[in-house]
Amino acid sequence: MTVFEADWLCPVSSPPIPNGRLVVENGRIGGDPTSEAHNRVSFPGCAIIPGFVNSHAHLELTILRGFLEDLPFATWIPRLTRAKYQQLTPEDMRVSARLGAIEMIRAGVTCVAEVMDLGPGWQAMQEFDLQGVAYQEVFGPAESQSVEALAGLQQKIDTYRPNETETRRIGVSPHAPYTVSSKLFGAVNEYSLSATLPMTTHIAESKEEGLLVRHGSGPFAERLRERGIPFAAAGCSPIAYLDRFGLVRPEMLLVHAVDLEDTDFDILRQRGPSVAHCPKSNAKLAHGISPIPEIRGTGIRLGLGTDSVASNNVVDMFEEMRAAIFQQRGRTQRLEALDAKAAFRMATLGGAECLGLSRHLGSLDPGKRADFVVVDLSDPAVQPVYDPIDAMVYSASRHNVRATYIGGREMKTDAEEIVRECAVIARKLRS
Ligand SMILES: [Zn+2]
Repeated sequence: MTVFEADWLCPVSSPPIPNGRLVVENGRIGGDPTSEAHNRVSFPGCAIIPGFVNSHAHLELTILRGFLEDLPFATWIPRLTRAKYQQLTPEDMRVSARLGAIEMIRAGVTCVAEVMDLGPGWQAMQEFDLQGVAYQEVFGPAESQSVEALAGLQQKIDTYRPNETETRRIGVSPHAPYTVSSKLFGAVNEYSLSATLPMTTHIAESKEEGLLVRHGSGPFAERLRERGIPFAAAGCSPIAYLDRFGLVRPEMLLVHAVDLEDTDFDILRQRGPSVAHCPKSNAKLAHGISPIPEIRGTGIRLGLGTDSVASNNVVDMFEEMRAAIFQQRGRTQRLEALDAKAAFRMATLGGAECLGLSRHLGSLDPGKRADFVVVDLSDPAVQPVYDPIDAMVYSASRHNVRATYIGGREMKTDAEEIVRECAVIARKLRS
């Protein structure tokens, strides 16, 4: 048994405790802190918080940080796809995912909703002991592709599932309306129900996607037409479109949810999915601001995600919390639109709820996994501290993460070799 002490213990499920102690036994929180036979680890000037839950990421795309800067979305997507399939090897993708995992751990992320195409994200999660859900993507904009696409998806899922644990799970991800036919959406939904697999999808992200779904027009429609793929305008919002095929349900994690109509809030309220909010990615790609207070008003579960570093660059959940608050206050001119406590919850327990893992992680409660982070508040840039949550949300950054523990074990990462390997791959991509 080990007792971890810090100036503040922030369980999330209850208010911060000054001079708090976290008792850890066999990788879990709990045990008698008054018992004599234990190790004591002190972190003066620090706060102990639950490990961050990053509710939307693409570890395998880490190598594309800085590669697609300032491209319009309808060009950004095919450029990314070309790099992934034509320029990068499977080994490159493995290196990319490993770099991403190291970055996450150093930033205090212990649980991730990884959306992967080629599979190295799942391997990296296992290697670095990241908890969460790895969602296997599936693509197929033409109806004629759906049987083959589904078979390919099932085959991949079958190879991953033997390595699942209680808190490291596999899921499925039909990519987005402009890359997945309505037939394939329906087929994946049926499969996820029969195989009890959680699901996630990029939805209501951009105005280009909205034009395609509502009117069958815009750059995505043009690209599909060029490829001889018909797309029938649905005449409704992207969320309503998904709902037609039964995909908006409690096991679904909707990512982005920027382009919402008033009637979409009723759908969210009635169906009870989760939403992963990616404020910085949405802003960087000029997609807009997701109406978070309105979504919160429906009572559904909400998490915070960085998205890939191809559209964010910086995996820093402190920054993400700040961006979420500032955007909502800027958009609504209402202080109460989102506050530090709510953002902190979204970045931890809220994310765990989105992934169906909140029984096991996301807060520092007895019986949960000892996945926690030590944040150094003694940094002059963070001092003085009146309230630890306010200080972390408004003043701290990933550079203040002093230690990351997963299952009670401190994670030490060595990035030297991986950084060298990434530089070689980046040279190849540039040429
Ligand atoms: Zn994404």
